[in-house]
Amino acid sequence: MSLTLDKNEILTWLRETNPARLEELWRRADETRRQHVGDAVHLRGLVEISNFCARACAYCGLRVANTKLTRYRMDAAEIFAAAQQAVTFGYGTVVLQGGEDYGIRTDWLAEVVRGIKSETPLAVTLSLGERPEKDLAEWRAAGADRYLIRFETSDADLFTKIHPPLGNHKCDRLVILRQLREIGFEVGSGIMVGIPGQTYASVAEDLRLFHELDLDMIGIGPFIPHPATPLGNGGKFFPSGNGEQAPNNELMVYKSVALARLVRPDANIPATSALATINKVNGRELGLRRGANVFMPNLTPLKYRRLYEIYPDKACIAETGDTCHGCLNRRISGLGRHIGSGQGGRKQRQSAAEMPAGQEWGYA
Ligand code: SF4
Repeated sequence: MSLTLDKNEILTWLRETNPARLEELWRRADETRRQHVGDAVHLRGLVEISNFCARACAYCGLRVANTKLTRYRMDAAEIFAAAQQAVTFGYGTVVLQGGEDYGIRTDWLAEVVRGIKSETPLAVTLSLGERPEKDLAEWRAAGADRYLIRFETSDADLFTKIHPPLGNHKCDRLVILRQLREIGFEVGSGIMVGIPGQTYASVAEDLRLFHELDLDMIGIGPFIPHPATPLGNGGKFFPSGNGEQAPNNELMVYKSVALARLVRPDANIPATSALATINKVNGRELGLRRGANVFMPNLTPLKYRRLYEIYPDKACIAETGDTCHGCLNRRISGLGRHIGSGQGGRKQRQSAAEMPAGQEWGYA
């Protein structure tokens, strides 16, 4: 599938502020969503399994230098219980997310994944940072279906500033995304919008890259720095982008979500929790009306949820799985949509096993 918008058109839409003209973007994104992934909203039960992180991202409350944060790591029984809750609510996927926590042993997590896969019908998505390729391969062999790792920005210099290397290890998340694809995962990535120093042109390049990478899942959220971080504490850590600074506001997120739908029509695109955080009233609904088709209700036990504070003032921090499930049902049916059944993987990509021998992943 070729890119339906060129980079200049993407840039023009990103700069657009006229509500009447933006209605056209929302309409096109919603229609493309309906044609390619239908009216189902797929729910992925999110379990934040550890808030330990070895990294020092300049905006994130889980960064290793935040010594004020009480750290936790869920045990296997707690993770199974959360996965069982996902089954009870009829979710098709459980997402095991955490910081880049090397206290999560590779073989231990492989055993957890094997347990979930053998005892439930769930797809398992992992989001555990930049683990070595052998860890990723072991988790895939254990049955994990999908892996999420955002590249955050395609501006390599800016990425290095907000996400410093770990020791001498140079990080290239685009390389990791390709490895994940070769290992056989469905692959998700995404960005933050409004990082200090991130220009409109840079966000347009991110969107073009979504197409080139043929992502199965695309997550987009606003830049929200945690107060216990360099970028959350003073806000002038980096010079802004020369009058072209992309804003980190709600409108910029909706435009990016809508454009992501247009450049990658069959991808799974969540209305993210960060979007629900900057507009607690109807951020999710507007995301779902402007291109998104996925939501990730939080199944993390309440005693841990407050401690998974990447950014402050997260939405739904005190909702139990039950109340969250009821609330989402109402919100989704209020849009004239319905909750998706099954695992809700990307429809149009063949699995690696189905792919004829010798055929590469391509832009079919
Ligand atoms: S953004 Fe991710 S890798 Fe960076 S400190 Fe936070 S949890 Fe760790």
